[in-house]
Amino acid sequence: MTETAGGGFASVEEMGDFGGSTQVTFPQGDVTAWSRVVETVRVDGGQGVVTAASPFHPLDPSWPDQPGDTGLLQSDGLEMKIVDCVTGAAEASGGPLLIGSDIPARRGDPAWDWVVVHVVERSVPVGADVRLMVDADRRNALSAGHTGCHLMALALNAALAGRWRKDVPADGLGHPDFDRAAVTRSRIVRDGSVDTYRIGKSLRKKGFDADGLAAALPAVAGHMEDRLAAWIATDAPISIAAPDPGLAALRRWRCALPEGTAEIPCGGTHLTHLGDLGTLTVALELSEAGDELVVETRASGTARLTP
Ligand SMILES: [Zn+2]
Repeated sequence: MTETAGGGFASVEEMGDFGGSTQVTFPQGDVTAWSRVVETVRVDGGQGVVTAASPFHPLDPSWPDQPGDTGLLQSDGLEMKIVDCVTGAAEASGGPLLIGSDIPARRGDPAWDWVVVHVVERSVPVGADVRLMVDADRRNALSAGHTGCHLMALALNAALAGRWRKDVPADGLGHPDFDRAAVTRSRIVRDGSVDTYRIGKSLRKKGFDADGLAAALPAVAGHMEDRLAAWIATDAPISIAAPDPGLAALRRWRCALPEGTAEIPCGGTHLTHLGDLGTLTVALELSEAGDELVVETRASGTARLTP
């Protein structure tokens, strides 16, 4: 028995050997798949079903930016709701399947198998063939939110580039990577994101000049929105590069912008073209003490639906 993130208990009905990490197809945008149930586990809110392959994006416990997909599972004439989707892991040498923040291993540790756990209300037998269907509208809205989040980060880096007094690692477009140096929290929502940045002593020590930032925010937002509009107008394609189809593979978001090709490590899902964002607007707010910047990003709408 292991305590789960929500304080409940997960007990493993069948230990270990479920044939390695889940082969995932969400990085390329898939929303449906047939697969076989290889493991089941009790989880908060119902039963967890693990399949050999899955198009479902699970919440990543180490960087929980994009929520888990929801949708439907069909098996043998039965249909049930997949109400949530989380990450599970078990030592490849054998051991209990742990869920979410109970996993002690670092993300992608090759000594562990990493699996997509579909949360359903009733159990499905191991060995059953099932059809998995993601709620495509919700996925598309989350993909728009996630694509907008990455683009916002690049525009923020560009808008704040003149405030760096020392050399710091640059993003793919050559601007000091403020996003990477300062982000503490990122939450993807439907057609948007909320990103939180810490502007503390350590960032200042790295060379970031925050003097007069509060007064400059309207101009920063204006520069960002102009740049975002220009990028969206190119309708550049977006791709996800993955070294292998395993859930824990280190994937990279890639987008060829006029200034260069941007790459950002990413475990989430994305639109296939920038034009699908419509327009992006940003709202920047600095805390009273000036040590926390919150950026809310919003996409006006997604023109193309996920097939
Ligand atoms: Zn991402």
